[in-house]
Amino acid sequence: MNAVACGGLAEVNPGQRPLFSYLESTEAEGRGFHPSDGAAGGMGVYPERNKLWYNGGNGIREVKKLQDVALKRVGIMGGTFDPIHYGHLVAAEAARVAFQLEPVLFVPNRLPPHKKDYPVTEAKHRYLMTVLATITNPHFEVSRVELDREGYSYTIDTLRELRASFGPNVELYFISGADAILDLLSWKDVDELLGLCYFIAATRPGYKLSVELGHLTQRYARKVFKVEVPALAISSTDIRRRVKEGKSIKYLLPEPVENYIYKHKLYRT
Ligand code: ATP
Ligand code: MG
Repeated sequence: MNAVACGGLAEVNPGQRPLFSYLESTEAEGRGFHPSDGAAGGMGVYPERNKLWYNGGNGIREVKKLQDVALKRVGIMGGTFDPIHYGHLVAAEAARVAFQLEPVLFVPNRLPPHKKDYPVTEAKHRYLMTVLATITNPHFEVSRVELDREGYSYTIDTLRELRASFGPNVELYFISGADAILDLLSWKDVDELLGLCYFIAATRPGYKLSVELGHLTQRYARKVFKVEVPALAISSTDIRRRVKEGKSIKYLLPEPVENYIYKHKLYRT
């Protein structure tokens, strides 16, 4: 008999297992759960109220403060960030708040395997722009893990490395836009990826998440979550094109990044 069947979470030793792993094990026993929904019949999280809920059949009752139960949950926002813009920042912040991630690591890639046809901007510039864009958010950090690794930047290698460095008591949440999540989950390594982290799929204008993700989440129900992001139809491709054509990029990205682009004459050709 597990803690739910006994009538609450009192018996759970918070030090032993990360929250979602714990919830997963209860789901395996047929109770069902999704951390972002409040449906009856199991357990989940009210992110905005910072509480874990439990419903044993007699209605929802709040049991514990989230931080008392969960161990650390770290977000990972991977990207080329060429350049970083408000679409990235808003998606990362929405995921951070919804899943209480601390910190969110922005991981600029060195050589993205899926962008082989287009020469990405020197890593130094992309790294510094990412630092400039994230500096005012105390919950955001920038990781050099991919920049310092030779060769193409495969997400699976990064997750293996971060998994090993954070240890078993930290849950990793890979944040990705609607376009990228569908790519990630069609990879051959998908089973290993899902063993290393959870995925948060952020909505992105122009990409339909619901149908495909609905299909995928059925398969990976306990590992892939969705977060609604205020729609920002901004892309790095569009920003690069605008700079090249001499058009304004104001308000599409943080001002220090805009100034950096002009100072270093990026994206002119
Ligand atoms: P590019 O046009 O060069 O591909 P991009 O704007 O797609 O650039 P990336 O660095 O490729 O930016 O994206 C990194 C991550 O951020 C991806 O998971 C992507 O889906 C997500 N993302 C990018 N822009 C948005 C946006 N406007 N809304 C939500 N997610 C986004
Ligand atoms: Mg992209």
